[in-house]
Amino acid sequence: MSYLSGLWDDLLSLLFPRLCYACGNHLLRNEYLICTECHVLIPRTNYHLDSENPVAKLFWGRCMIEKAAAFSFYNRGSRIRNLIHCLKYKGIKEIGIELGKIYGLILKSSGFTEGIDMIIPVPLHPSRQRVRGFNQSDSIAEGISAVTGLPVDGRALARISVSGTQTKRSRYERWANVEGIFMATDIVSIKGKHILLVDDVITTGSTLESCASELLKIDGVKVSVTALACAVI
Ligand SMILES: [Zn+2]
Repeated sequence: MSYLSGLWDDLLSLLFPRLCYACGNHLLRNEYLICTECHVLIPRTNYHLDSENPVAKLFWGRCMIEKAAAFSFYNRGSRIRNLIHCLKYKGIKEIGIELGKIYGLILKSSGFTEGIDMIIPVPLHPSRQRVRGFNQSDSIAEGISAVTGLPVDGRALARISVSGTQTKRSRYERWANVEGIFMATDIVSIKGKHILLVDDVITTGSTLESCASELLKIDGVKVSVTALACAVI
């Protein structure tokens, strides 16, 4: 980089500071969306290395999930929570793509993605997607796909009814609230495939369970699940 273009970049960053979406600190020239410190300090679950991890156990006795993992822990005030908030509510899709790439590389290098044929992001109801303008799970899936080479099919599963907000419901109410709200719309492309369902946050697992139950009705389908964060310990 020439001295002049470096100077220009410095001037731009003074006028329009680039801030880390996780902690709010200034980004250095070579940093993108997330500062190096946050990259290092985001706590990894490493659940992809343990087949009996807490996310996998969520589904025991509920539906057949091959593998389950989540990138980080979703704690109050945590860096990953700030990032997911910016992704979902400020519409910064690039955060989903970038975190998807980071996690996708981890999943690929550990062998977690071996045997998986395709990625399906958890769909939003069309009315909610219209309001938000996009589906945050699509962005995460796009990032995972970019580094794993796995194809994404965002149209194979549809959300056919709106569930209310999950945050103020009890565990049972959340579970009952997402029963039977998804529908497979492209059975031919799903048949016989091992599908990786991708969501932003796993809390009770009820949304993923509802998606998986629908997919598992199709011949020869296997389902694995993953998300950027999980609230289960
Ligand atoms: Zn940061």
